[in-house]
Amino acid sequence: MKINDNYLNLSSNYLFADIAKRVRAFKAQSPKADVISLGIGDVTQPLCPAVVEALHKAADEMGTAATFHGYGPEQGYDFLRNAIVEHVFRARGMSIDADEIFVSDGAKSDTGNFQELLSTDSVVAVTDPVYPVYVDSNLMAGRSIVKLPCTAENGFVPELPRQHVDVIYLCYPNNPTGTTLTKEQLKKWVDYALSNDALIFYDAAYEAFIQNDDIPHSIYEIPGAKRCAVEFHSYSKTAGFTGVRCGFTVVPKDLQISLNPLWNRRQTTKFNGTSYLSQRAAEAIYSPEGKKQVRATIQYYMKNACVMREELTDMNFKVYGGADSPYLWVRTPNSMTSWEFFDWMLHSAHVVCTPGAGFGPSGEGYVRLTAFGTHEKTEEALHRIDKKL
Ligand code: PLP
Repeated sequence: MKINDNYLNLSSNYLFADIAKRVRAFKAQSPKADVISLGIGDVTQPLCPAVVEALHKAADEMGTAATFHGYGPEQGYDFLRNAIVEHVFRARGMSIDADEIFVSDGAKSDTGNFQELLSTDSVVAVTDPVYPVYVDSNLMAGRSIVKLPCTAENGFVPELPRQHVDVIYLCYPNNPTGTTLTKEQLKKWVDYALSNDALIFYDAAYEAFIQNDDIPHSIYEIPGAKRCAVEFHSYSKTAGFTGVRCGFTVVPKDLQISLNPLWNRRQTTKFNGTSYLSQRAAEAIYSPEGKKQVRATIQYYMKNACVMREELTDMNFKVYGGADSPYLWVRTPNSMTSWEFFDWMLHSAHVVCTPGAGFGPSGEGYVRLTAFGTHEKTEEALHRIDKKL
């Protein structure tokens, strides 16, 4: 038996496991410290009432033979695919068909699995810093990766690759930098992909946090994108579904390479569908009450983001992101490395952040803070950082 050697090329520890280890060690040393996490990207606010009601109703249906649901369609139920077409795309003037939507158990699986459709010698480009799933899933398959630095110097907008690449992963609003692309900036990438026979994997997991009307919510707002882009969506941050699990991926039938039937083939072979309960819960966020309630929770987090941006700026930190995204990307002071600043925050202010270096070499010198805390804890964390500076 021989293992897949590519796994040996992965960095040995997952970033959040490293962080958890340091936090555990600190807590063992200082058991009375009240540690506040502004680090990990999980949410704190509960599901909205419309979703809870839909879950109860779906659970009742599952308890009666006449309305019980067993295996569903691997691609997702029509009620959800149609709601997505209507409320996510048609409402913004985009035309996507229901059979281009594949409902999933979240964007992590799909952003990690989609690379299976590419040949192993494809050259893959990612922005740096980056959501680690894109890199690790391609390393596992043995592909080479080109990193496109995103730094304050280029305004966190990646430059077009100098060498040919077959696939580019773009994530906007970005995790971890919290920055966005304008339509013009995104158009450059669509034009590049179209003229270089490249594909774009566009991760729109945070589109619901966009506040500025000029920022695109979907790559399909750009003409030509249906010929070159696959798009990933998640209900995790949009509607607090980190524990419910649901998302979807758009695989247009117009793509220059015909991936829609291949993804369908892949999913029907390896995936048995997202649970009926999760899909009914997701459908509920498109009802009039659901929309209002979900928006209120997003605004709750965006209030944190706004307060964090203002107060950290007042403390003389250089802060990026946080305007159309729940993430803030903060320059470390006094040329500290991102892990040095992480340790300082933990030991002095008892606040956990995420060291930027964990997202790639261009993340060095930054930390990521998230707006997913409660107002009270977020305020308290900011107060402590201010006091300890
Ligand atoms: N994409 C990005 C950029 C993310 O930050 C996350 C989660 O943090 C995901 C995808 C995965 O989300 P989920 O699998 O919970 O839908």
